[in-house]
Amino acid sequence: MSVSLPSRPTLLIDGKWISAASGDTRPTYNPADATVLTNVDEAGPAEAEAAIASARRFFDTSDWRTQSHATRCALLERMAELLQKHKPTLAKIETLDTGKTLGESEIDIDDVTNVFKFYAKEALKLDHEKRITGGSVPDSVVSRIIHEPVGVCVLITPWNYPILQLCWKLAPALATGNAVIIKPSEVTPLSSIYLVHMLLEAGFPPQSVQLLTAGGASVGPTLTTNTDVDLVSFTGGLATGRRIIQATAETVKRCTVELGGKNPNVVFADCDLEWAIDNVVTAVFVHSGQVCSSGARLIVEQSIADKLVAGVVERAKQIRMGNGLDPTSETGPLVSAEHRAKIESFIELARSEGAKILCGGTRPDPKEFPELAQGYYFLPTVIDGCNRDMRIVQEETFGPILTVERFKDGDEETAVRLANDTKYGLAGGVQSGNKERAERIARQLRHGTVWVNTYGAYTAEAEWGGYGMSGNGRELGSKGLDEYVETKHLWVEDKPALMHWFKGARM
Ligand code: NAD
Repeated sequence: MSVSLPSRPTLLIDGKWISAASGDTRPTYNPADATVLTNVDEAGPAEAEAAIASARRFFDTSDWRTQSHATRCALLERMAELLQKHKPTLAKIETLDTGKTLGESEIDIDDVTNVFKFYAKEALKLDHEKRITGGSVPDSVVSRIIHEPVGVCVLITPWNYPILQLCWKLAPALATGNAVIIKPSEVTPLSSIYLVHMLLEAGFPPQSVQLLTAGGASVGPTLTTNTDVDLVSFTGGLATGRRIIQATAETVKRCTVELGGKNPNVVFADCDLEWAIDNVVTAVFVHSGQVCSSGARLIVEQSIADKLVAGVVERAKQIRMGNGLDPTSETGPLVSAEHRAKIESFIELARSEGAKILCGGTRPDPKEFPELAQGYYFLPTVIDGCNRDMRIVQEETFGPILTVERFKDGDEETAVRLANDTKYGLAGGVQSGNKERAERIARQLRHGTVWVNTYGAYTAEAEWGGYGMSGNGRELGSKGLDEYVETKHLWVEDKPALMHWFKGARM
């Protein structure tokens, strides 16, 4: 299946596609067979400075920020149309770069089409100026809240959902009149490059969007400390998120971080067994577990546990791994050799902690699956005999690894305690045939999204984000728009009068 990949130059700075002055490039790999897909330009601090300067100039001097929301929202609607038009190519690029199945990539594009459509409507509400009356506002005063863009926004994204994570930031940032600098993951930059070409095709002003393809270490310090940057929105791992919060603190930038998760999936014995097996397998093994909200911790009621775990193991062994472009593949490889090495070290950790590996725990056997031998594949893995003190239960592995914890029948309190026993708080599931119980447990979970009797769905209209160390902000929904908006209070006195505070001789 041939597709033309974005070609160099891949840096968009001040409205022009350019290469790095250093001439540096970086290869990007197809995780399905470890071949080099293409090379992209590697920006450095000088290119980051240039992108910031251009974005600042554009934001301060053009009429982009003062236009009506309706004008900008028309561009968002156009972008939604283009996403559908370019879907076949964009989906293939995403699959080639990330390894996810083509079906998953297509779903991501449909989802972000909805995100653009949603913010094209949602941002129109900001044209409404809220009038404040009564209270301590005198009759002679017109007091209003108006909305303005934050300014120059740096958008930093991870490799697991490149288009999706970028568009969750991009759509609200552009709808509200900000100037953006995009820094995609160096592991999977291709769909972001393609998407930036689409933004220009949609008619966004060239300087409203700057693109830096680069490693985090190359441009991150400049992007997060420069005084001309007003906001940094980051999605990625906890360690990087902490670094970004620290870096942005010095200049008191607005900084939102969306980080990892170690998400519980609580299953009660009153579920239909076959249905519960399907739910648990889907929750954890989609995209080979490289999902921030994956249901990586099974917390199961004792009386169903053995049967459920046996069923999950059986199903895990049947998952068809393969190249994401092959329509028969149900899940793809891990994203890189480095990430697979990390997953393998987690398996060693689990063993050393005394947990029991029921299935997987290795790469596919190259004799049995020669077609997988070159890629970064790793078998779906179920680990039993876990307890809350184990690091394999506490740390985000970000791979196809399910840990199993049990609670005594009817002991809802323990189920909730186990589910909440994590430094993260991104997402979780409650599966039960008893609706009242499911609702009761769901309300006690300290996680940003809780699915009841399902797992994994989201919608552009509802906020997404985490409690605890899963992050400090929200994307999607109306709060996802607020992240990119400054509110200004205008207090206008219609009948100016002496204030009588200082009583100098002349008064
Ligand atoms: P990562 O933290 O390694 O990298 C994320 C981005 O940060 C990349 O673009 C990287 O180049 C950049 N970066 C690295 N160092 C930087 C620095 N010093 N300054 C500025 N930028 C820097 O994360 P990853 O491995 O790409 O992604 C996986 C992580 O993302 C997982 O922890 C996952 O849970 C999380 N994630 C969270 C969500 C969510 O919605 N909460 C969604 C997707 C992924």
